[in-house]
Formats: sequence, C-alpha cells, structure tokens
Amino acid sequence: MEKFGILNDENREKYRPAFKGTSFFARNMWSLADNQAIVLGTQFCIFAQIFDDLIDSNEPEYGIKIINRAINIFKLGKLEDDPTPLERNLFDIHQNLEIRIGDQHPLMNLFRNSFIDYFDNLIPWQCMKKLEGDMSMNLYYNIRRQNMGMEPTFSLGVLFTMKRLNPDILLDPLWKSLSDYSGKIAALYNDIFSYEKELREKDVRMNSFYFMKTQNNWSDQECFDFMDKELDNCFEQYIIHENLIIQKFIPTLQNKEDEEELYQIVGRFHLILTSIISMYLQKPSYKSQDSIFVELRI
Ligand SMILES: [Mg+2]
Repeated sequence: MEKFGILNDENREKYRPAFKGTSFFARNMWSLADNQAIVLGTQFCIFAQIFDDLIDSNEPEYGIKIINRAINIFKLGKLEDDPTPLERNLFDIHQNLEIRIGDQHPLMNLFRNSFIDYFDNLIPWQCMKKLEGDMSMNLYYNIRRQNMGMEPTFSLGVLFTMKRLNPDILLDPLWKSLSDYSGKIAALYNDIFSYEKELREKDVRMNSFYFMKTQNNWSDQECFDFMDKELDNCFEQYIIHENLIIQKFIPTLQNKEDEEELYQIVGRFHLILTSIISMYLQKPSYKSQDSIFVELRI
C-alpha cells in the first residue's frame, strides 16, 4: 500500500488497524487460493473499503466522477493522467489479473462486469438514504444485495480457483440466485450487528432492523423475530438453489476432480458469508458494554 501512496505518514495510524482486519478477512475468504491471489484479493478489499468511505463522505457529483474513473480502468484499461493513489492501486490489480488469466478470459469479464454493477449501485444507495418517507423491504433488498459486494467477491474468488471447469456454467441464472440470497443474508447480518453503532452515529435510516422496528412500532424482540424469519427464508431459498446447481451440473461432469472443483465453487459463497459474519463479530466499533445483542457485549 505504501507503493501506491495509499498509506502515508498522515493516515497511517487511522488505516493501520482497518488494513490489518482486512488482510485477515481476505486470507480467510480466499484461503484456498495461492499467495499472489491473496495479495491481489487483499489489495481489492482495501480499495473497496476506502472507495466506499470516499463515496459516503462526499457529494454525489464527486462520487459519480470517481466511479466513472474507476469503471474506465476496468472497461477500457485506462488510467487517467492525474491518477490518485487509489486508482493506481486499482489499475495494478486489473493489470495483474489480466496477466494472470488473459484479457478476454470469460472469468476476467465476469469479474469486470460484476465490479461495474457494484460501483454503479453506490450512488443510488446513497441517494436513497437521503429520501424521506418509509422504506420498504423490497426496495431495500433490491439495492442492498448489490451493495454488499457478493458478486465481485464471488467472481474474484472464482477467477482465483476455477482451473478445470468450463466457465460457461457460470452463465446459468441459478448462480445469480446464490449471489442474491447470500447478499440479502449478509445485509441482514450487517444490519443487526451494526444497528447500535449506526444508531449512535445517527446513520441508521437504511438499516432494516431500525426501519422495520420504527415503522411497525415493534419491540426489540419483535424485530428480532422478524429478522429471524427473514433469515430463515433467505437460507431456505439459498439452499434450494444450491441444490439445484449441484443436481444440474454434477451429472454432466466426467471425473472426481471436476466434481470437487464444482463443490469448491459452490462453497465460495459459504466462505464469503462466514468470513463476513466473523468479521462483524470481531469489529470493535460494533461492540459495547450494554449491547442488546449478547454476542456484541465487551
Ligand atoms: Mg450497516
């Protein structure tokens, strides 16, 4: 990170603990990948983290500008004449992935497209935060599942690990359901674990634990029961779609190694979800002495 100037004397103290957490997170999530992949994955997570911060703390006009510049790196391989340290880092990730797998490899394009979708979604999410009136779970899910970044994280993971199978199988829409439901699951967990922190920081409008509670005048327990039911639904749908993928593709494979790789790819979302949830449980900013969630008490 020093290489691109992302870490300097002024921000070193601020970012160091977060970077440390991110590198554990990346190592956990891409535990099956080789060393270069883990470095690239960590670089990517750090980029996403700072980029998200920048979007959140600036006006939409600025956000749109830096999003378009980032998209151009992925779409055109173009680095602007006055690149920021963060953009140089992103360009480096893109270039290394291209060298690793090839410019027109389907997995590379899958990653590029999912990345572009993810960044395109950041401003609508920010705009929605500013709107007044009641939120609805449908609208929330629609934007939030993208916002959790499951798709780019998955496609990067597949790019690191898929060696034998034909990438065409990933075009089946069943995979999209896995990414959508795991995005919803990650969002609900984030809302529960970050609820008290966001309440303290008055940044709670888009938190479903909060808006379902206030709109319906529910107690904490009633709200918890609702979240429980939502999570059950999402997990059920997730497992149904996972089984559909296995039933559809396993019989088409010729040998044990291919089957193993398919199970590995299917398992990627599990790995992402468990890494995200264990990160939430360890995040110091989510913890407090009197948290309503026993798991978050210090
Ligand atoms: Mg949150």
